[in-house]
Amino acid sequence: AALYRIDSWGVPYFSVNDSGNIAVRPHGVSTSAHQEIDLLKVVKKVSDPKSVGGLGLQVPLIVRFPDMLKNRLESLQSAFESAVQAQGYGSHYQGVYPVKCNQDRFVVEDIVKFGSPFRFGLEAGSKPELLLAMNCLCKGNPEALLVCNGFKDSEYISLALLARKLALNTVIVLEQEEEVNLVIEISKKLSVRPVIGLRAKLRTKHSGHFGSTSGEKGKFGLTTNQILSVVKELHGSGMLDCLQLLHFHIGSQIPSTALLQDGVGEAAQIYSELVRLGANMKVIDIGGGLGIDYDGSKSGNSDLSVSYGLEEYASAVVNAIRVVCDKKSIKHPIICSESGRAIVSHHSVLIFEAMGAAAPTIPAVNQINIPFIMESLSEDARADYWNLSDAAMRHDNETCLFYADKLKQRCVEQFKEGTLGIEQLGAVDALFDLVMKMIGGSDPVRTYLVNLSIFTSIPDFWSIGQIFPIVPIHRLDEKPAVKGVLSDLTCDSDGKIDKFIGGQTSLPLHELDGGSAAGGGAKGRYYLGMFLGGAYQEALGGVHNLFGGPSVVTVLQSDGPQSFAVTRAMPGTSCGDVLRAMQHEPELMFDTIKHRAQEFCIFDAAALSGSIARTFHNMPYLELASSCSLTALNNGGF
Ligand code: PLP
Repeated sequence: AALYRIDSWGVPYFSVNDSGNIAVRPHGVSTSAHQEIDLLKVVKKVSDPKSVGGLGLQVPLIVRFPDMLKNRLESLQSAFESAVQAQGYGSHYQGVYPVKCNQDRFVVEDIVKFGSPFRFGLEAGSKPELLLAMNCLCKGNPEALLVCNGFKDSEYISLALLARKLALNTVIVLEQEEEVNLVIEISKKLSVRPVIGLRAKLRTKHSGHFGSTSGEKGKFGLTTNQILSVVKELHGSGMLDCLQLLHFHIGSQIPSTALLQDGVGEAAQIYSELVRLGANMKVIDIGGGLGIDYDGSKSGNSDLSVSYGLEEYASAVVNAIRVVCDKKSIKHPIICSESGRAIVSHHSVLIFEAMGAAAPTIPAVNQINIPFIMESLSEDARADYWNLSDAAMRHDNETCLFYADKLKQRCVEQFKEGTLGIEQLGAVDALFDLVMKMIGGSDPVRTYLVNLSIFTSIPDFWSIGQIFPIVPIHRLDEKPAVKGVLSDLTCDSDGKIDKFIGGQTSLPLHELDGGSAAGGGAKGRYYLGMFLGGAYQEALGGVHNLFGGPSVVTVLQSDGPQSFAVTRAMPGTSCGDVLRAMQHEPELMFDTIKHRAQEFCIFDAAALSGSIARTFHNMPYLELASSCSLTALNNGGF
């Protein structure tokens, strides 16, 4: 566990159990091992069609733990409630979940359900997000806020106004100055009294990757002068009382509470000025930014880590607002936040399988035919060989390395010139590997091939270098013997993970085949988990090389002997589905191929078509032995 820092980033949800497997505590606490879920057992149950109740789902697989969503929401709520109470704050906290972080229907529905007792709402940033938020909040707490952010046209504004007519507590947050005229005009037309917010462009700047949102040159929000003209416009239309919320967002992964307090303090000043100018201010919405400590270092000095926990975050926010409002003798506003990453990151684990690890086979000394190599070597290359040999006798490792390297380079040059055969070049490579092994000169890092697309499932790693904890989910009681990097299935050199938490450029990994049956007989299979990736990854992922989304299962803690129950299971995107996403028509494609089969393979056309139909139905990932997709059982065509 220490090798992978599970004790840091995993607290309180993940640890290692006595079997050496990842143990999950979805509620964040456990009074006995019985209450922990063995992640390997979940994977085996859902992927193995032969296990009792096994579903035969293909991996890669996302395992969702809704109990963790509940725990995150309740922890955030109680952090704010404690801060409010401790500081004698005169109002309350009422958060919203920004659906962009993970729009999965069941994730959003669960958040609305779990957050309902404390009026937790939703934030939308586009028309489809607003539609889904409206639908979900119909079953939520009527006081829950529906915050409408993002750039808006008349259709978006009309929809948000209709939501208000449907008695959803909707706030239209002005992102651009022009939006105010549309809101005034359409609300009059629809006879709806809107609740309006405005997004301020703060001067406070967060310098990390996610900070480009903030500062005077940030992409979003209204400048000081634009705020003043919006106030004037609303006043002129007799609608200044509709302006009730001030929003800002400094950026995701705010590294420290010092920066947070700076930004919130600046926003609180704007809030109090809006009160002075006559707006009917009620809510300060501090946006997202509550960070995740991906590497568990609590260092706060990169996008990988933040130096505070929920309590410190809440306390800093409440304090910054209270101090400004008290100085200006202003009623304390309701505090809203739009934390996404901090709510959904933990609840889903991406499971994928390592299938092969390319390791050089290092020959024994007597297996290398030196005279055969020497035959075609140039004078210089021969001299390098003898120098290498002398250095080896003297156990002079540094000189060995020098001449081995030189010899190899010269041989490659000779090969390119056509004066060295491929067998001799192969023998020189083997000699080089042997020398490296003998002098301990290299600590070879192996490339593990993983049944995954990084572009689809970990897009932030590829696009912005975001690092997530990646850990084998079993065999953690065995010392890993190898260091590896991970290479995915896509035909793209960027489809590779070679950076890990703790600044590591390789991951400690186990040998693929020699492993014990630790972890309940998982011998032969090697499962890795990518943790803390529940935010953004699913929505941002594409279909590069037409690898689609993973299978998804939902797991609840239960009192049964296995301590878990699988409550929902969805096979991943099939080959047919990804083709359809690119405007191909799988049914027509299948017909075309079937007719061709009837034309060219008269005797086995049916079997051939059945086999092709199966490929359309299955996921694009490699189908490894003993796991067969549910859909693979269907061979009847479309
Ligand atoms: N609110 C707004 C306006 C955002 O742009 C974002 C994300 O960038 C969020 C909320 C969510 O931020 P986070 O995931 O850091 O909580």
